[in-house]
Amino acid sequence: MNDCIFCKIVKDDVPCNKVYEDKDFLAFLDISPCSKGHTLIIPKKHFETILDTNDEILKDFIILIKKISKVIYEGLKCEGFNIIMNQFKASGQIVPHLHAHIIPRFSDDGLRAWPHKKYDSEDEEKEIQERITRLLK
Ligand code: AMP
Ligand code: ZN
Repeated sequence: MNDCIFCKIVKDDVPCNKVYEDKDFLAFLDISPCSKGHTLIIPKKHFETILDTNDEILKDFIILIKKISKVIYEGLKCEGFNIIMNQFKASGQIVPHLHAHIIPRFSDDGLRAWPHKKYDSEDEEKEIQERITRLLK
């Protein structure tokens, strides 16, 4: 994709602080980190979300996410980490090139997770459960 910032990083047209590269994937520091060591992992090929990414790439992707997470967790001595993958604009995805965020976390870092809500009724909850279950069959 010509106008994709991550494709430009893959092509070396835009610089990045690279931490890992192989023939299919690249990992680099987020330019605007949530915490120190916030890392992005991307496939070199342009896919927008997991829905248009082939399963072989996804399998290798999650294994690489684990490998880099382990290094960040042990190497940066954080207490935990978030793996976040925003999918589509409504979720907060700004760069439409598949990527995983690894965000080092500490118990006192003050970063807040999502708010938790309730269903309007038990019937609504049951209906949603049944709808998803049915579609998965
Ligand atoms: P998302 O909201 O999941 O699409 O996140 C995209 C992330 O890419 C944001 O955290 C940005 O700070 C990061 N980002 C955007 N451009 C660059 C860049 N040139 N180098 C490194 N990170 C970038
Ligand atoms: Zn791209």
